[in-house]
Amino acid sequence: MSSKKTALVLGAGGFIGSHMVRRLKSEGYWVRGVDLKYPEFSASAANEFIQGDLRDPLFVEKVIRYTGSTGNFYKSVPSRYWNGCDEIYQFAADMGGAGFIFTGENDAEIMHNSCQINLNVLEKVKELNDFTGRNKTKIFYSSSACMYPAFHQESTEDPKLPEDLAYPAAPDSEYGWEKLFSERLYLTYSRNHGIPVRVARYHNIFGPEGTWEGGREKAPAAICRKVSEVEDGGAIEVWGDGQQTRSFLYIDECIEATRRLMDSDFVGPVNIGSEEMVTIDQLVDIASKVADKTVEKAHIPDSNAIGVRGRNSCNDLIREKLGWDYQQSLEEGIAKTYNWIYRQNKKSVPGTEVENVNVKDYDEALFTN
Ligand code: NAD
Repeated sequence: MSSKKTALVLGAGGFIGSHMVRRLKSEGYWVRGVDLKYPEFSASAANEFIQGDLRDPLFVEKVIRYTGSTGNFYKSVPSRYWNGCDEIYQFAADMGGAGFIFTGENDAEIMHNSCQINLNVLEKVKELNDFTGRNKTKIFYSSSACMYPAFHQESTEDPKLPEDLAYPAAPDSEYGWEKLFSERLYLTYSRNHGIPVRVARYHNIFGPEGTWEGGREKAPAAICRKVSEVEDGGAIEVWGDGQQTRSFLYIDECIEATRRLMDSDFVGPVNIGSEEMVTIDQLVDIASKVADKTVEKAHIPDSNAIGVRGRNSCNDLIREKLGWDYQQSLEEGIAKTYNWIYRQNKKSVPGTEVENVNVKDYDEALFTN
């Protein structure tokens, strides 16, 4: 059997999962990706990509078994060879931006689907460990800043969220409650069954190859799309009064922090985010600057998809435990993301010539697919 490290990436057809697959491959891992869908914007870099529904326990049981460098999913392998992979990255979730999470219309599915996936993953890893008599698989779980209590996020000023503010619990969405439940679930399987876990609370991850249209996109992608579509001097819709504050972390930095957490002895939960907090109006201004346009804001104050008033990451713990901190300015990340969304948008109109937008100050922004 090969000595290559093996990883199972759940949610490998999604935004963060597909970037993680690419990163693991570049580090020499053998990677199996699993998702309901293939990645939308480029081919998966996974050695083996399995399409299926992780709410189904039998499907999860099958995908967590791994028996060698060529994989085994499509072959029948005698049970004595069953073996878990070295690492599982669990990104699969029923997920979206504020327009999906905060309206209340999707609450039952969000809670049911994501809980079911996490229950299945942990129970099936435990069963496999019981069967093999080994406990080799380390699991990463992607929680969210949405699990922090709403009452700590009522002001736009200094809404920093150190990890120990999590309790008493009062998330402002069912999505946040599910994340809180699931991070506890991972920690209980670690305590009671010895399964090594690592838990991070992501704060607004963005970048190329993220959802940018259709209702599940997050604020940076939605704003880049709107700015790319509006005429110079025109106005775009901005949910709320635009004064709500957030921080946003570029995808490459999220992947780096996640890999460091997995390679460390630190369990978490730990914030992975940026501390560069901006108002949503400032986010619009940054995207407009990158696009070299003047853009007015048409606020929609009574939108039901706004979320908390102020939120910022606090990176004290991750700095202390992992020596990691965000490096890149929001403007640099938005430039790369804007250029990618601009190109996607043009590509969606048949017969349109697509040229890179003028982002010469941000050379590495030229994302070409
Ligand atoms: P995403 O929606 O792009 O990826 C999630 C993937 O899970 C999707 O490809 C989806 O098809 C898949 N999935 C959902 N249900 C499934 C099922 N039943 N079976 C198989 N696959 C299924 O989201 P993302 O932005 O890549 O987020 C990844 C993880 O990180 C999620 O758990 C999310 O809650 C968490 N997170 C993300 C952010 C962020 O800003 N992107 C912030 C906090 C936490």
